[in-house]
Amino acid sequence: MNTNNSFKLNLSKSSKTEFITTPIFYANGEPHLGHAYTGIIADIFCRYQRLSQTNIGCQLITGTDEHGQKIASAAQSNNLPTQDFVDNLSQSFQVLWPKLAIEPDAFIRTTDTQHKLNVQRIWQQLEQQGDIYLGHYSGHYCIACEQFYPEKDLLDGASCPVHKREVIFSQEETYLFRLENYREALIEYYQSNDNCIEPGHYQQSLIEQLKSAPLDDLSVSRINNKWGIQVPSNQDHTVYVWIDALFSYLSAIQNCGGNANSLTNTQHVIGKDILLFHSVYWPAFLLALDIKLPQKLIVHGWWTIGGEKISKSNPDTTVNPSLFSDKLTSDGLRYALARHKPLYRDGNLVLDEFAQTINADLLNNLANLVKRNHTLITKNFAGEIKLAEISQLDKESLACINKVIPVLERIINAYQTRDLHRAAKEINSVLAELNGFFHQRAPWLVYKTQPEAKAKQTCLVVSNLARELVWVLSPITPKLCHDIIEEKGTPSSSIFEHQVLILKDAVALCANSHWQKV
Ligand SMILES: [Zn+2]
Repeated sequence: MNTNNSFKLNLSKSSKTEFITTPIFYANGEPHLGHAYTGIIADIFCRYQRLSQTNIGCQLITGTDEHGQKIASAAQSNNLPTQDFVDNLSQSFQVLWPKLAIEPDAFIRTTDTQHKLNVQRIWQQLEQQGDIYLGHYSGHYCIACEQFYPEKDLLDGASCPVHKREVIFSQEETYLFRLENYREALIEYYQSNDNCIEPGHYQQSLIEQLKSAPLDDLSVSRINNKWGIQVPSNQDHTVYVWIDALFSYLSAIQNCGGNANSLTNTQHVIGKDILLFHSVYWPAFLLALDIKLPQKLIVHGWWTIGGEKISKSNPDTTVNPSLFSDKLTSDGLRYALARHKPLYRDGNLVLDEFAQTINADLLNNLANLVKRNHTLITKNFAGEIKLAEISQLDKESLACINKVIPVLERIINAYQTRDLHRAAKEINSVLAELNGFFHQRAPWLVYKTQPEAKAKQTCLVVSNLARELVWVLSPITPKLCHDIIEEKGTPSSSIFEHQVLILKDAVALCANSHWQKV
């Protein structure tokens, strides 16, 4: 073998991330596709962090948001004690994740005792500092959002901008947070730190919005809602559900062995509907507490199902996502969700279209290629082709490798910019290249019309490039990739370990079918 058994890749280093979070999901109904999507992409990012060796200890945090009047009412209409109701719903999220191959390291519940104590301690500090004071609030209140809206934000002067349903006019005693005190600091922060919010256009419009007008004091407690964390100094009030929910990130990080400083290495994955809470309220609370702000907010778009918005009034759209993974497999669902649309755009799930994509890419292009190559290696070459047997790579092999390497670089760069859609597309172009090479070289003609050396070289090149490809695909389709890598004798990825493609012996312990048509 000549010196051409290793090929350098040009890769940029990604920043260190210790924690990736999903929002804690509101426990007033069963999980749906929107929850599944957030969980899946957060899980993919986390797996990628570990794989890229940037931070092998990266942890995934998720949980359930279990307080608020809306939940107490939902429990009542289900004739259940509220605690039992949230126990059931929290459980339905916890049993869903394994069905989607999501592996959280921490699952936080806002009804956890330790979390309640954390929130009360934070409240006391904010109140003692004068950031929170007792006052009155009157205005337009959305029961579904559990928040007041200024008149200018209402749709047609009467409806919630999120729920598009009518708000009620309400006046009550409430604690208020002096949000305006942090407006300048927020503007400065967002102006001097690019890419805190992805995609960047959200950050730009937020800066404009913050500059345009003072911020109203934020109502941060509810009177007459007993299902919540009690305000330490006033038993008539419970803490605003969003303070409760947002600080669950810190409670979970503490449960994982981190502390408030770990937030600077934390990325929050959120849907665009909760951007305001995460880009204004959350950092304002943190600034008030003198805690450094999170590394990044990653904002994703929404899904419709068969063209229909996900809505409780349309049961076809609120089916448990495990039904999709039953039909498409967890890997198939994860792949199709990543492949189908850029993260920040909205997308539409049509099961037949998803199945077509999965069958074309994972079955025909990947699994079948691997199976055919491994069959040749096991049948003709006793399951192993030694690199030392190849005297020199021929022109075609070198050309194939040299075509694939820049695409592998692009895939990794796409992951580092969280562009899963592009990563999946580029993974397919590697598969097209490998399939083209394999078919043109026709190694199955060995011992018929083709010399052994050429067939061995073809199988070795395909095996090595497929190994790296399967590794880069593994955050998206972990089970499929694990099975293929295992069949190869569990070789590590040279591009993640050394930023170099190193050709190794090609091993095939067997030649299983790794994918069934969905
Ligand atoms: Zn609303």
